Amino acid sequence: MRTKLIVANWKMNYSVTEALKFLAAFHREINEIENCEVVFCPPFTALYAMEETLEGTPFKVGAQNMHWEDSGAFTGEISPFFLKEMGVQYVILGHSERRQLFGETDGEINKKLMAALHQNIIPIVCVGETDKEHKEGKTFDLVNLQMKKALEGQNKTDLPNIIWAYEPIWAIGTGKNATPEQAQEVIQSMRKELSKTTNAPTAETMRILYGGSVSDEKAKGFLKQPDIDGFLVGGASLNPQKFAGIIRATQRPQ
Ligand code: PEP
Repeated sequence: MRTKLIVANWKMNYSVTEALKFLAAFHREINEIENCEVVFCPPFTALYAMEETLEGTPFKVGAQNMHWEDSGAFTGEISPFFLKEMGVQYVILGHSERRQLFGETDGEINKKLMAALHQNIIPIVCVGETDKEHKEGKTFDLVNLQMKKALEGQNKTDLPNIIWAYEPIWAIGTGKNATPEQAQEVIQSMRKELSKTTNAPTAETMRILYGGSVSDEKAKGFLKQPDIDGFLVGGASLNPQKFAGIIRATQRPQ
């Protein structure tokens, strides 16, 4: 059985002080988790303080991006090696905001994925279509193409370590979700593609998340779908009560 995974993408929100204040409030809501992993992805500046504060708890820390080289003349970039040394265990790659606002290409995402796997940082690779592509019925082809380009040339033995996130761009930060059934259909097709790149039993072990305006009220509906293994959460992850509510949706009723 695949362990559920809930990832908080804080984007460019929360200074170190604010991040620690969030954690204090979050710990008042939830301390123990069962059959579920939770990863906080704060801005780079808060990673170290969060690592220290969360040590000994079941909660983990991830980065929102990284460069593909370990060092060099890349002003303003962050190395996978630096992240690994700091104890960062996960990294979000290819988020639609990086693709759309910063021009990140499939080729760059491919190199970042290779670098993350090389450093044993678990990559969470985002794929998803725009509103226009959605309306034109291109979702399945586009998502498959993004996956294919990310996977080109990767070492086959590393592929089971990749986590995927289906994030329809029209649902990010808009309050509009894909329905659980729509998300299930796309994620099921992603798993089918992965079974071709790897094999069916391996694809069954790989985790695929949904992201796009997930809230504590809506989480349960998505989790009923057989192929949805958790969430990448933006807006709602900035609120300790709402984020704890999403995590509670993964827990067995007491
Ligand atoms: C995201 O940025 O990955 C995201 C899913 O954001 P939101 O939950 O705010 O739609």
